[in-house]
Amino acid sequence: MNGFLARWRRTSRRPSGVLYQYYATIHPETCGVCLDHHGRILERPEGEETPPLHPGCRCSLLEFSAGELEYYREQERRMRGRAQEELRRRRLFREGEEALARGDFEGALARFRESVQIDVFTSDVEHLCRGESPRGALESAPEVAQQLRDLFVRAYRWKHDLPKYRHMPERMRLERRDHGLRVIRELFAPFVDGPAGGSGDVPPM
Ligand SMILES: [Zn+2]
Repeated sequence: MNGFLARWRRTSRRPSGVLYQYYATIHPETCGVCLDHHGRILERPEGEETPPLHPGCRCSLLEFSAGELEYYREQERRMRGRAQEELRRRRLFREGEEALARGDFEGALARFRESVQIDVFTSDVEHLCRGESPRGALESAPEVAQQLRDLFVRAYRWKHDLPKYRHMPERMRLERRDHGLRVIRELFAPFVDGPAGGSGDVPPM
């Protein structure tokens, strides 16, 4: 009876030898809570630790066999590392905005340079160009605005050449890239007088 009970408890906790891995999307809109769960391995597909964690949560669970645990542990390490990098990128970007607002242009450029080495998103550039205090700083220092525009344009172009976009049909990849580049140029156009400011065309690579 005891043996049966123990076995029953064991098997009812993990009925078919399956486990679950938490998947968040690494994106500027993904909240810190979801990023913190990215890659985590769960025993059950329900409970407090399973998506949706909040209204509008877009995370999901991937089911895998317990026999593959070692592989998924490896994935977990990699995914948690990426989630940490995204949090670091956000911190650097915010610090860049704060430095800019203080008039510390060197500090701002250093932070933004470091952040784009991790990734770059047009929504963050939009936040930067439309935010009250960074905007004041950009208006007062067009040469800094131009340096920043060029930095984001370079980073955005480079990002679309990374292997993660290689699976995408070439035309779609270039359209996405050119659209983003246009958005960045338009956002900086009010601060920059250079020839590329506001221009929609993208020079060849
Ligand atoms: Zn979330």
